[in-house]
Amino acid sequence: MKSIRSVYRIGHGPSSSHTVGPFRAALEFGRRHPDADGFRVTLFGSLAATGEGHGTGKSIRSGLPGAEIVFRRDVPETELPHPNTLLFEALKGGSVIAANRVFSIGGGSVRFEGEEDDEDREVYPQKSFNDFLTVCRTQNISLNDLMDHCEGPGLRDYLREIWGAMQAAVQRGLQAEGTLPGGLNLARKAKILFETRCYNESADVTMNRVIAAYAYAVSEENADEGLVVTAPTCGSCGVLPAVMYYMQHDRGFPEKEILDALAVGALVGNVIRTNASISGAECGCQAEIGSACSMTAAALASLYGLNNEQIEYAAEIAMEHNLGLTCDPVGGLVQIPCIERNAVAAMRAISSVNLSRFLYSTRKISLDDVIETMYRTGKDMSEKYRETSHGGLARIYHANSCPQTL
Ligand code: SF4
Repeated sequence: MKSIRSVYRIGHGPSSSHTVGPFRAALEFGRRHPDADGFRVTLFGSLAATGEGHGTGKSIRSGLPGAEIVFRRDVPETELPHPNTLLFEALKGGSVIAANRVFSIGGGSVRFEGEEDDEDREVYPQKSFNDFLTVCRTQNISLNDLMDHCEGPGLRDYLREIWGAMQAAVQRGLQAEGTLPGGLNLARKAKILFETRCYNESADVTMNRVIAAYAYAVSEENADEGLVVTAPTCGSCGVLPAVMYYMQHDRGFPEKEILDALAVGALVGNVIRTNASISGAECGCQAEIGSACSMTAAALASLYGLNNEQIEYAAEIAMEHNLGLTCDPVGGLVQIPCIERNAVAAMRAISSVNLSRFLYSTRKISLDDVIETMYRTGKDMSEKYRETSHGGLARIYHANSCPQTL
């Protein structure tokens, strides 16, 4: 399995597969063709369906200034090698001098057709989560010991940089006010949620409100094309930072323990990415928010010092109860249902850890089984529910059907 370092990537929102991935592909294609005097980039599949709302053209043009962007919505997904396909063409004197099909495979990763993907080298002989648990059990080491051994020096510096970017996104999001771009007229809510205390608010309600505010803060930054960290994607980038930020800043857990927890969360995300998918275009929102929820549950269980079986069970519960979750972003924007969904997933991750504390010894379903189930469910899911905005809320939503009072 490859390094956990590509699970968390710093980049601009609102969508890792629609902005971060295409931007990285554009940079690379431009680097390969310095002689070209122009570029044309054609978007297919989910990129063509929701790329406008997700700002794909703008991201590509930041990597390839002046590139012509073509949306091909007439090609059925069954004729594409991947739901997120791009065709890059380098032009000179009006003629095409080079072309590459590129696939944006989720979380900001890309693969040029016929080449290996752009990930780091293989660093783990293990592939499933059970493989990791077995090594830890037989060698009597922790998951963090194993990751430090396989990843080598620099892992802690990487995690510290990532954690800095996650915290900065929470802090910026809590300060920001106004309306998100894109035409849905959706007000930012993180600041209000953070500052508005209910009458007679209990400690539990305060915790949920504050964590939700942190999740909104990051997700609203993402929707506003701000700098966020994929965890494992941009659309689901608010879940893990919200819970970890609360644990450090409101509950006093030291940064060193937060970094260890982030590593465990990344390991779960890496297993999902390796054996299934983290792409909404490939497997629906269960692959994005379900994965984020599972990673967060594992990270939190690790932070609480629970054993590896409890960590696995927390991650399994968190994924299992997101199975079947569709991707149906209204207007092709990463706002409704995405922002609220990040907050709900953060709370669900906490509930999953609470259950895992008590029931782990009676569990029947492994994390690996539920990951495979998620993947198969995603493959069975209609294209309408895989980041095309052709079904679900994206079809039913009518502006002004519910007055906004904020
Ligand atoms: S519905 Fe889920 S998968 Fe789809 S764009 Fe929103 S967060 Fe991403």
